[in-house]
Amino acid sequence: MITAMTPSAVAAPGAPCPTCSAPLADDRRFVVWCPACEWNVDPLAESAADTVPQGRTGRRTARRRSAERAVAEQMYTEAVKAAEAASLRPVRGRAWFAAMGIAALVHLSTVVVTGVSLWWLVTGSMFLRVLGVPGLALAALLRPRLGRVRRRDEWSLTRAEAPALYGLADRVASASGAPPVHLIRATGEFNASYGRVGLRRRRVLTLGLPLWEILAPQERIALLAHEFGHAVNGDSRRGLWLGSAVRALVEWYRLTRPDGGATAGPGLVMLIAGWVANAVMLVVHKSVEAVLLILHRCTLRTGQRAEYLADLLAVRVASASATRTLLESMLLGESVEAFFHRKRLAPQAGRTAGEASRRARDAEFWQELRAYLDSVPEAERLRRLRVSALRMGSVDSTHPPTHLRVALVETRGAHEAAVVADEAETAALEVELAGRRAAVVASQTEFR
Ligand SMILES: [Zn+2]
Ligand SMILES: [Zn+2]
Repeated sequence: MITAMTPSAVAAPGAPCPTCSAPLADDRRFVVWCPACEWNVDPLAESAADTVPQGRTGRRTARRRSAERAVAEQMYTEAVKAAEAASLRPVRGRAWFAAMGIAALVHLSTVVVTGVSLWWLVTGSMFLRVLGVPGLALAALLRPRLGRVRRRDEWSLTRAEAPALYGLADRVASASGAPPVHLIRATGEFNASYGRVGLRRRRVLTLGLPLWEILAPQERIALLAHEFGHAVNGDSRRGLWLGSAVRALVEWYRLTRPDGGATAGPGLVMLIAGWVANAVMLVVHKSVEAVLLILHRCTLRTGQRAEYLADLLAVRVASASATRTLLESMLLGESVEAFFHRKRLAPQAGRTAGEASRRARDAEFWQELRAYLDSVPEAERLRRLRVSALRMGSVDSTHPPTHLRVALVETRGAHEAAVVADEAETAALEVELAGRRAAVVASQTEFR
């Protein structure tokens, strides 16, 4: 990894591209590369190419990547057509039904494990009763998890604490055709998410402040609209049925990993390993892996389509330009991480100072972050878009490649946004989020 991070050393400062002699993009804080011929555009991938397995496995990986690349391109074409026809409906094809069927079998297997273990415990011989205990523990691991609404966790905001934020979220939700959220959380991550948790399937919106704070007011509306898009775009991967089936399969995968005993759940693996031969484990392991891969393929299309629909919704609610710049800002995650890293290593001054100076320090932190991101040169932003194109098909594919998302948004003409933020509202948001912002600063600077 270290060698992969220092390719900038290859070209001398001011030197032209070694391949095509065009001038290089050489801000030494970032990767030195050639926008003309893409020399060194993705140094990490180039070093990773050396470690891609050769022979059959390598060919299989290459085939899978090119298949996923083809799907990504096809989904993009379909999304452009859907956008032109203004048909923002999710489509459920054969693959979707196959995925739901596989999920049903997974849940059935959990029911069988539970039932058999209970039966053994109640009516079995001494030997079977002993087996029933790990069986029930296994069933507990495999059970569907509903998640919990933690109203009192440090990141949660109640409606009373943040009326302006909830007000804005409600307006965007209603413009997106989504029901209002029950809970908003403001966390320290560079992302945002929307999900349903708990027995009552409460709708929870999570806004990562490092992302939120670098966005312009209209980009924030685009972000909210994209997240609410997940409530209406038919993304089955996030549903309880499919999501919990995948989690159960991942548990199976973890538990049956032949050499994974030390890192898997405490005790349980040792117990199971006692009576299941290693060979059987391997067969189960490989089968689970295959099923996970099939599920991934079955949901790739609906998942990517859902993301495009969420982006198109953001265009309608917040405008195409705000959605495009939002997507481009989301490519800056690495830089935000680098900034935080630097902050954590920096010596702390005035940690014991009073409330006023702490507030000043917090404000400075976010200003510095914004200034640093503003200083990321155009060539580096362009490089990240190109990397997204090059890595298409090798990413985990939860979202379509960013360059295609941007391209889709750019096909939409300028029109009026359905929701706009006014200045008073933006100022109120600023005040409401002050406490959570301070908590993020504390978590990043008082780390040592
Ligand atoms: Zn070049
Ligand atoms: Zn999304």
